[in-house]
Amino acid sequence: MTLQVRAGVSLKPFNSFGVDVSARLFAEAHSDADVRQALAYAAEHAVPLLVIGGGSNLLLTGDIDALVVRMASQGIRLLSDDGERVVVEAEAGEPWHPFVHHTLAQGWSGLENLSLIPGTVGAAPMQNIGAYGVEIKDVFAGLTALDRQTGELHEFTLEECRFAYRDSLFKQQAGRWLILRVRFALSRAAHLHLEYGPVRQRLTEQGIDQPTPTDVSRAICSIRSEKLPDPAVLGNAGSFFKNPLVPATHVTHLKQQYPDLVAYPQPGGQMKIAAGWLIEHAGWKGFREGDAGVHKLQALVLVNYGNATGPQLLDLALRIQKDIAERFQVELEMEPNRY
Ligand code: FAD
Ligand code: NAP
Repeated sequence: MTLQVRAGVSLKPFNSFGVDVSARLFAEAHSDADVRQALAYAAEHAVPLLVIGGGSNLLLTGDIDALVVRMASQGIRLLSDDGERVVVEAEAGEPWHPFVHHTLAQGWSGLENLSLIPGTVGAAPMQNIGAYGVEIKDVFAGLTALDRQTGELHEFTLEECRFAYRDSLFKQQAGRWLILRVRFALSRAAHLHLEYGPVRQRLTEQGIDQPTPTDVSRAICSIRSEKLPDPAVLGNAGSFFKNPLVPATHVTHLKQQYPDLVAYPQPGGQMKIAAGWLIEHAGWKGFREGDAGVHKLQALVLVNYGNATGPQLLDLALRIQKDIAERFQVELEMEPNRY
């Protein structure tokens, strides 16, 4: 047996909020064989199994009475290259941003807008990670997952993944699919998406008129670094709430009272409201109680100033949710996965 199972392991280093809880059992899976050993171990000892990657989209609200398996499998391989389009596969444990960096260094375009997102390749499909107008569904070419119910491998197509805004089949069927490796279709010719937020403006400020994918990646890294707290310095899980989708009539109604409300039209006639705008205008930006707070620069990000507990962070989130519902009649949905 190569899998090293340890008991009573602190998960503080393994969740970006830096919440100090412990796992009853903990192991790192470096291969498919390790994953299968972990499943067998959990079944034999009758403990639940929780798979994690970088822990950057978790809110841990207490000790975890499970075998926590951190995906640490490594490997990136080129599966096909027709001179224009490449298909590249990465193992679940590969850290996301270095993988993006690797694809750009090969001259492959498609992931540049998803630069500097923490976490692993294997978790990226879970909420169809997205930023600056691109989601992984836009470059997705398939994935291999283990069905924890049957022990069989399944190759998923784009349609089968049911990707939606911060959502997927894997999130809907939480605990069933263990993602082992993911494939992306990237392009040698750049098809850049610059019309989102301040991306083009940042490039212009840098004197770049005809950006390469690497230029776009660098611009996005610089924007993100200015605005988002680095989890290594200040615990957080990125955006704590999804941007709510509401009927356009509700936005019209809100705009009568709040003319500067930020909302974007969506396919299907709905509008997406910037949740950060709602939270900021409700006065929560910079709020702090004990070590749980709302980031000073980005109201969508809850932060742990040191020793906040999961329940304290959750309590703050629930208070914000209630306040936003009362003030704006908008329901905010939490984004991190809670355990
Ligand atoms: P974890 O937090 O470890 O796990 C997340 C969920 O996936 C859990 O339910 C876990 O059980 C499950 N899981 C993990 N690995 C696997 C696997 N191999 N198979 C099956 N299930 C698995 N998200 C965005 O979409 N866009 C952003 O721009 C963005 N920016 C962020 C910025 C900061 C500063 C932070 C802290 C977070 C940000 N996030 C963003 C959220 C987060 O980085 C992503 O959701 C990321 O994909 C989570 O990866 P992870 O490996 O850390 O997953
Ligand atoms: P921002 O640029 O201040 O924009 C605020 C919100 O407006 C964003 O959430 C974005 O929605 C939306 N938006 C902006 N321009 C838009 C456009 N042209 N069309 C449609 N919607 C538009 O946002 P930010 O907080 O600095 O984040 C920048 C990007 O990184 C966003 O895409 C955001 O989702 C992503 N991000 C995600 C996380 C996370 O944890 N999930 C954390 C940090 C950043 P969308 O969020 O739907 O894109």
